[in-house]
Amino acid sequence: MMRDMATDLPSVCPLDCPDTCSLTVTVDAGRIVKIRGSRANPYTAGVLCAKVPAFFPGLVHGAGRLTRPLRRAGARGSGRFEPIGWDEALDLIHDRVQAVIAEHGPEAVLPLNYAGPHGLLAMGSMDLRFFHRLGASLLWRPALCGGVRTEAWVGTYGPTPGIPPEQAALARLVIAWGNNVTWSNLHLMPHINRARRAGGKLVVVDPVRTKVAEQADLHLPVRPGTDVVLAWALAAALEQRGGLDRAFIQQHVAGFEDFMALARPWTPARAAEVCGVPEAGIRALAEWYHLSDPAAISVGNGLERNRNGGSGIRAIFALPALAGKWGRPGGGCINGAGFAFPKTPARLQRPDLAPAGTRTLNIVDVGRHLTDPDLRPPIKVLFVYNHNPLIVHPDQNRMRRGLAREDLFVVGCDVVMTDTLAWADVILPAGSHFEHDDLFAAYGQHWLQRAEPVIPRQGEALPNTEIFRRLAARFGFTDPAFTASDRELMDEAMDAGDPRLGGVRPSALPAGRAVPMRFGGEEAIMFRTVWPATASGKVELTSAYLEAKYGAWLPSYTPVASRFPLALLSPASDRRITSTFGGVDGGGGAPPLEMHPEDAAARGLTDGQPVRVFNDLGEVHLRLRVTERVPAGVVWTPKGAWLRTSDNGQTVSALCPAHHADIAGGACFNDARVEVAALPA
Ligand code: SF4
Repeated sequence: MMRDMATDLPSVCPLDCPDTCSLTVTVDAGRIVKIRGSRANPYTAGVLCAKVPAFFPGLVHGAGRLTRPLRRAGARGSGRFEPIGWDEALDLIHDRVQAVIAEHGPEAVLPLNYAGPHGLLAMGSMDLRFFHRLGASLLWRPALCGGVRTEAWVGTYGPTPGIPPEQAALARLVIAWGNNVTWSNLHLMPHINRARRAGGKLVVVDPVRTKVAEQADLHLPVRPGTDVVLAWALAAALEQRGGLDRAFIQQHVAGFEDFMALARPWTPARAAEVCGVPEAGIRALAEWYHLSDPAAISVGNGLERNRNGGSGIRAIFALPALAGKWGRPGGGCINGAGFAFPKTPARLQRPDLAPAGTRTLNIVDVGRHLTDPDLRPPIKVLFVYNHNPLIVHPDQNRMRRGLAREDLFVVGCDVVMTDTLAWADVILPAGSHFEHDDLFAAYGQHWLQRAEPVIPRQGEALPNTEIFRRLAARFGFTDPAFTASDRELMDEAMDAGDPRLGGVRPSALPAGRAVPMRFGGEEAIMFRTVWPATASGKVELTSAYLEAKYGAWLPSYTPVASRFPLALLSPASDRRITSTFGGVDGGGGAPPLEMHPEDAAARGLTDGQPVRVFNDLGEVHLRLRVTERVPAGVVWTPKGAWLRTSDNGQTVSALCPAHHADIAGGACFNDARVEVAALPA
C-alpha cells in the first residue's frame, strides 16, 4: 500500500547478527527514508549498529536492486542480462532442471543458500520444501559459520539455552572469548558495562586488540587456533588452586577424568608458550574465574574457524561446569540462545519429503564438488539464494572455476545483484524482508519477534516463499505443503502450544512487540529453570554425540603446519554483515591489512604501502596498516569485501583453505597462512 505521508512502522533487522534489533522504519511514498532502533525489543532498546541505517535503504532502493527476472545475455560471468517475464523465467528453470534430472537424476540439482536473511520464512521454509520434494542434493549449511559452536554446545549441553545476554549485567566477571562485542554483538556491551560499574571485571580473549579488548581489565591475545590449550590450562589451574566444584561435578558432569587427563599437562608456562599469552595472564584469569561469582562467558564465532575450533569451544564450555558456575543468574555461558525458542524446523522445512538416502554435501565443499570431474552425479544445476558464495566461501578461485563451467546451469535469486549472480543463467528478484511477513527467533538473545511488510513489493520482486511456491506449482507439486500461505508457514515454524508463546499463534504475535522466552515464568538459568538436554542429562565433557558424528569423543589439539609464516584472520567488518552491503556505497574501497610493526620491519614494509598477500591458493592486494593491534605473526583484514574493491579479481577468501574443522565439517578461514610483500608499482 502506498502512503502519502511519512509514516513510522515497526520492523526487525533480518541480518546474520546475534542481536536481531527491533526497528522503526520511516516510509515515505512507498520508500524507506530512515531506519532507527526501536524499543520494541528491550534487549536492543533503541540502539542500532551504524551499518543498517547507513546502508539498508540503499540496498532496498539503490541501483543494484533487482526488480525483474533476468536471463543471461552475454558470455558466462560477463554480467550481461536482459529482462524476461516471470512465466518465461520459471519455464526456463523448469525445462533445464527436468532435462538434467532425466539425464543425471535429481541429486544433480543443488541449492546453495545460506543466511542472508534470518527470518524463519525467508531463510528456509517453502524453498526447502521444494528442494526436498524435488530430490535435490541436501546441503549441510551450518559448516560455513556457527555450526561448530552450535555442535560444540549441543555435544556438551544438548539443545537447551544458556543464560540470556542481559544476565551479563549480574556477573562479577565476564569473559568475551573470540567475540568482538563492539562490532558483532553490540547490545551485550551495556550489560557488560553495568557489571563493571558494579565492580565486575571484563576479560577479552582474542588475538586482536579490538576496541572491547582495549577496555578490558585483562586481554589475552591468544594465538589463532590455540584456544583449546588455553581453556585446558585454565581447567588445570583451577584444579591446582582448589577451584573445582567437586560436588557439582560428581552429580552433573560426565567425562571429568578423561577431560582433566588432557588438561593437566598444560601448565600455565607451557600453555603460555603455545598460546602466545603471558603466563601471568593465564594465572590471573584462573584466579578471577575461581573467585568471581557469578561469572559469565560469551563465546563468539571467531574461535571456531580453525581445525581446533570445536575443541576450543568445548573446552571453554566445560569451564563453568568444572567450576560450578551454573545455577544462578549471571553464571555460566551466554550461548545456545537459538534453543530458547520452540522452533519446529521439521514441520516448516519438511525434510520428510526428500527421498530416503539423498546425499548431503557440505557447503564448505561446494567449490571442490563443482570442479570435481569424478563426482557422481555431477552438480549440473545450482540454485544460489540468500548467499554470495563467490565472496564468502573459502578458496574463492576454485569457486570461480566451478561457477564458470559452461555445462552448469545457475539460477540466482537475491535482493540485489551480487558478484556471484554475475555468473547466473537466470536471475529471480527477491523481496527484501521489508516487503513481506516474517518471524524472527534470534541466535544471540531470547526475544521472539514478528514483522510485517512496511513497503510495497518493489517492481516484480517476490518474497522467497512466493518464488518457491510458484516454482513448486510449475513443477506440478500440488501437495498442500506447497500452497501454504506465509501465515500458515509461520504457524508451522513454531509450536503454538508451547507455553513460551502464551497461547498466541506465531502468525498472530503482535508486530512491534517482542516476546520474551521464559521457562516456568523465569529467564533461562541452567540447572534452575533449564537443564542439560544431553542423552545422559549431564554436562558431557566426553561426548557420544560428537563421537558418533565426528569421531570427537574429547577435545584435541593439532597445530597448523604451513610454509607460509603469517596467520591470516578475516573476521567481521564494521561496514558489512559478512558480504551484505558490500555492493552499496562503492563497498568502501579495499580494506586494510593490519600487521605488527615487527613483521613489517622484517619485510621492509611501511604503513600505507600497497602489498600483496599470498599463498598457494591466491593473491590479494591490500594497503598495509602497521599497528600493534595485531600480535606479531598474525595479520588481519575484514571479510566480505566485494570484487569491486579488488584490482585483481580476488578478495580475502581466495587465501582461505577449504579443509574442515574438527567437528561439524566447519570452515577453517583462520587456518589461512600467508606471506606479505610489497606490491610492485
Ligand atoms: S546488524 Fe545487528 S546490530 Fe545492526 S541493526 Fe541488525 S541486528 Fe542490530
